[in-house]
Amino acid sequence: MSIFNKLTEAVINELDYAGMTRKQQSVTKLFPPFQARKQKLVDNGGLVLVNQFPELWQFKVPSGTKPGVEYDVYVHFFNIVPSLKKWVPARGLWNKDETAIDYRSLAAEVLFDIDIKTDCSCPADTFWGPEYIKTQYKNKSGGVSAQFGDDEDRAPRVRNPHQYGLLCKHGAYVVEKLPMFTSTFAKWLKDFYSDDIDKMFIAAQQEWFGIQKAAGELGKAEEEQPVAFAKGGKHVELPKEVGPEEKSEEPEGGGAVGAVKPKPKPTGGAPKATSPEEEKGKTKETPKGLTKATTPANTPATKPATRKAGPETK
Ligand SMILES: [Zn+2]
Repeated sequence: MSIFNKLTEAVINELDYAGMTRKQQSVTKLFPPFQARKQKLVDNGGLVLVNQFPELWQFKVPSGTKPGVEYDVYVHFFNIVPSLKKWVPARGLWNKDETAIDYRSLAAEVLFDIDIKTDCSCPADTFWGPEYIKTQYKNKSGGVSAQFGDDEDRAPRVRNPHQYGLLCKHGAYVVEKLPMFTSTFAKWLKDFYSDDIDKMFIAAQQEWFGIQKAAGELGKAEEEQPVAFAKGGKHVELPKEVGPEEKSEEPEGGGAVGAVKPKPKPTGGAPKATSPEEEKGKTKETPKGLTKATTPANTPATKPATRKAGPETK
């Protein structure tokens, strides 16, 4: 319950994933072996996500130096609803039928977009600068810091005078591993925010369907044109393809003369004359070309045509 008190009291402090990662990179100027020491956390068992609340995840992370000691790392996801409002209407995150949001895709975007605050219960978080730096750090949303919980206003003048880094080993380890929790994040969104997401999705869906309906007339017109054009091409070109092949065989056998009359010109000519005609015929008439032309025009053309019409009408 104290967690929720912390949440209500912490009015501040936001920073997104990329911003945290960038700021954290300078920590090796303070602790060159930082990454190696962080690896010991993995050797000692790694992190465990022990609790999920509407805005907060709690991890247990082992100490790298003290066997059996664990620290609590809190990750506070901030400005969740604004981020959802930004991403739920993105149709690229909907399922193929556009009947529902794809939570996994949504989670992947939101996780890297929302602001994050952290706190760790280890001494380093307090005494080596992270809490002070997080408190000071300005972020894209205009909040004050990325420190979850109580602010720390005492600068680490002795231990970390240049204020390198942003997170302790445990916090850094959790933030580094957050992308591996994208599926968990998706389920968490579904558990705690599905009502909001459903409303946002339905509104976005209705708006999109409305655009599609308004564009219906244009969409039909675009569909009819390419289909008619493709059909005309087929009828004209198909007989040509059969003709020249038969001609070359017929003259040798000395078969029907009447039928050959229109065709003699190409056959009578040297290979040069036949080759250009055949090439033209092949490029236009080959079964491959026909099937390609017909199938896209008939079947999938309906969906692309309407989609194209949408943005134009806007
Ligand atoms: Zn820590």
